[in-house]
Amino acid sequence: MPTVDLLISGGTVVTSSGRRRADVAVRDGRIVAVGRLEADATRLVDAGGLLVLPGGVDSHVHLMDPGSTEREDFPTGTRAAAAAGVTTIVEHSHGAPVRTVAELDAKVSYLTGRSNVDFALAAHAWPAEPGKVAGAVADLWRAGVGFFKVFTCTTHGIPGHGGAALRRHLRATADVGAVSLVHCEDESLTEDAEALLRADGRDDGGLLPEWRDRDAEVVAATVTAVLARRSGARVTVAHVSHPEVAEYLAAERRRGARIWAETCPQYLLLREDEVVEHGNFRKFTPPARARSDADEAAQWRLLREGVLTHVSSDHAPATREQKTGSIWDVHFGLPGIDTTLPALLDAVARQHLAYEDVARLYAEAPARVYGLWPRKGGIAPGFDADLALVDPDAEWQLRDESVLSKAGWTPYHGRRVTGRAIRTYLRGRLVAQDGRPADDRAGRFVPGPGRACP
Ligand SMILES: [Zn+2]
Repeated sequence: MPTVDLLISGGTVVTSSGRRRADVAVRDGRIVAVGRLEADATRLVDAGGLLVLPGGVDSHVHLMDPGSTEREDFPTGTRAAAAAGVTTIVEHSHGAPVRTVAELDAKVSYLTGRSNVDFALAAHAWPAEPGKVAGAVADLWRAGVGFFKVFTCTTHGIPGHGGAALRRHLRATADVGAVSLVHCEDESLTEDAEALLRADGRDDGGLLPEWRDRDAEVVAATVTAVLARRSGARVTVAHVSHPEVAEYLAAERRRGARIWAETCPQYLLLREDEVVEHGNFRKFTPPARARSDADEAAQWRLLREGVLTHVSSDHAPATREQKTGSIWDVHFGLPGIDTTLPALLDAVARQHLAYEDVARLYAEAPARVYGLWPRKGGIAPGFDADLALVDPDAEWQLRDESVLSKAGWTPYHGRRVTGRAIRTYLRGRLVAQDGRPADDRAGRFVPGPGRACP
């Protein structure tokens, strides 16, 4: 074999289909061979005792740049991603939504040189008059957006889609093969609950699960799934918070719907009643639902079985100061890009998942859903050399002080975890080591699959 740029030797390569001792050879940023290799390498890395996983693909991330850079920006958010072992994100920010091809192009130019990992960008769907939706969807998809973000309820200043607007949007996406990420909470139910809670003078943390209750999520997810099936549109239901939603979506998949169920660590690790003590620091929606170890185990089982199809962080950071005030007024959202891969690796130590599941749920599956496969999310010749070298035995503690996001805190502060990415490679470049990101803003825009369409 001719000289390669990088040879990662002696590690255990993990993909969704299994694990084996193998070397990984990289040339010009791509994997050229995987196996027992005899090659001269410019750089040789001994991965003995380490796992070689595909770099994380986090498909639901808000880096607020441009838009709300007092909360996060691309340099800080993508340094945190690289340190955690994440090499590709699909980003969208509600403060500066992308609604036109010109806005997409401007955002791509602005972000060039601002990202430490590769990034795709999503557009926001906007409820519009009949006849206006299809053209905008087709133009944006062909310009290379990663997906369309859709709200069923007005949230973060983005207007919600009622049934008619949602159906119009999904039909337009079905026509061009585009995929949507739908935030599912029924607006009439959340509005009604809000009015009652405000009339009662409530402003305690405990109001959150009443305001954003299970019914609101189930109703919106059900409607979305039915319209997805009947339109043929490809849809991910965002941040599925509990098993009833996941199981309903799986039933619609069996009926032919092209629908996926994303979840996030906060629906695996946090408890519904934490918001009473932690208030604004647990204000995200849908809120945490688990009430017991059994509830938590049920969510992990659904992930293992593929009923919940993939994991994202839904990283939506705010600093401690920005989280201070009335629970009605502070931002929704949690920081998560620092902690999602650590949480999944730790779930292996806790026997909820296998490493193969981690490779599937946080790399391969989202790469496939969003058309990044077979360039991102796998370890085989032809893929970008995006790799996380993981020490499976590293025991460490998640701490506020270690969070690289501008948020500067984590809901998992104090949690002891096992397993850590100790080296992260982006297209063969070492972009983080031992939790410390390199200052290397080599991240590139990765256009969505629609751009290849004629
Ligand atoms: Zn989100």
